[in-house]
Amino acid sequence: MSLTEKILSRTACLVGGEWIVADSGETIDVDNPATGETIGSAPRCGRDETARAIDAAAASFADWRARTAIERADVILRWRDLVMDRQEELAELMTLEQGKPLPEARGEIAYGASYLRWFAEEARRVYGEIVPPPVPGRTLLVTRQPVGVVGIITPWNFPMAMIARKVGPALAVGCPSVIKPASQTPFSALALAELALQAGVPPGVINVVTGDARAIGGELTENPVVRKISFTGSTDVGKILLRQCAGTVKKVSMELGGNAPFIVFEDADVDRAVAGAVASKYRNSGQTCVCTNRFYVQEGVYEEFVEKFSKAVAELKVGNGMKEGVNQGPLIDGKAVAHVESQIEDALDKGGRLVVGGKRHELGGNFFEPTVIADATRDMSFAREETFGPLAPVFRFKEEAEAVAQANDTDYGLAAYFYTRSIGRAFRVSEALEYGLVGVNEGLLSSCEAPFGGMKESGLGREGSCHGIDDYVELKYVCLGLG
Ligand code: ADP
Repeated sequence: MSLTEKILSRTACLVGGEWIVADSGETIDVDNPATGETIGSAPRCGRDETARAIDAAAASFADWRARTAIERADVILRWRDLVMDRQEELAELMTLEQGKPLPEARGEIAYGASYLRWFAEEARRVYGEIVPPPVPGRTLLVTRQPVGVVGIITPWNFPMAMIARKVGPALAVGCPSVIKPASQTPFSALALAELALQAGVPPGVINVVTGDARAIGGELTENPVVRKISFTGSTDVGKILLRQCAGTVKKVSMELGGNAPFIVFEDADVDRAVAGAVASKYRNSGQTCVCTNRFYVQEGVYEEFVEKFSKAVAELKVGNGMKEGVNQGPLIDGKAVAHVESQIEDALDKGGRLVVGGKRHELGGNFFEPTVIADATRDMSFAREETFGPLAPVFRFKEEAEAVAQANDTDYGLAAYFYTRSIGRAFRVSEALEYGLVGVNEGLLSSCEAPFGGMKESGLGREGSCHGIDDYVELKYVCLGLG
């Protein structure tokens, strides 16, 4: 039986190394967003199953943390190798449940695997410090210790990579975890967990609980045994989880929403900006937290940019992500389609100029036409709200300061992009943008080597890079009297 068949037919999640069903016997159907067909189902677990997963994680902690860093690193590397051996199968499973085009799904598997490799390498560099003492006769030691059981809650837009980016550092430093994947995309998580067991991750060190988000999230955030929550998802849900975590003062990592600006200055290479704009806006059909939400184009190149960009957007091929040549899959569900539609309606009511797209795609279902709206203004809803879909509004500006002010005029602060040939402007503007990630003449910038995370209401903490370990360790200071 192939891995995919095993995962789709099992209808079970992973607790303490056992594949279990929900206590109630209930399940949640998982639909293919391209066809609307049900591809399988996952257990509808709640608080009790989550509490048992937390207990199993806690029971595995002593052994896992006591292993040497190189032993843990070897297990993570074996996991990474199994993931890459199964890249094609995992990518197909992802496209089935999530809808993204197969080449993007393959890319996500490789991207997620890169974090596993990175954190396997970092495992051996979780160093401590010896600090010069303030008085004679003392030695001051600082060590880094694993925080303990980690609760991980992940979204549907990157069903595999968001898990790898969190479980990688947790495993590396010695923390067990309980993962709650999004209900729309549980199978990628379950396949990943199956491969983790095959790689030698001990029972209980990784648990996956699918089902009722509120009940599972409630238990993960309120159970005192869980010492840290790592969440990627919407700012609204992030705020709920932050409030719930306050009761037991958990550590938190939050990767939340974005409202990314993309500024094109008159001194930019416009063709390069167009290529970056398409990549940044339409990847995953606009459903990533770093996708451009607002384009700001300086008046001297405004019409040229709108024309070239619209031409490139009109060439995007919409369809089932399994089909060769498709680069725009469906949106995740009907709610997402309605949201994009409502932002377009609002913009057109307020004088926006529709240049490309603008409506549901003739394929029906969750497919939507890649859309460009020119003459965007600040009173339109996408100026403030995250779109999370294939809609590109293009605003016009005169001066650099005006563009920077508008770019920063949002509660979010995840990713920002700008295009210029001026080195002075490159430094000046990247410093002025209140964003955790800034792309200068680049529309795609995330990689395991660099810190990923947002300012303002886009989140707390950083993932990836040498800093990505910090959120999973506690500093311990030991004052050793030598008298
Ligand atoms: P998205 O808009 O990307 O679906 P959400 O923030 O709604 O983002 O969901 C991200 C993850 O958070 C999913 O796994 C979802 O099931 C989970 N989630 C949603 N609501 C809650 C909640 N109240 N408590 C815990 N988890 C939740």
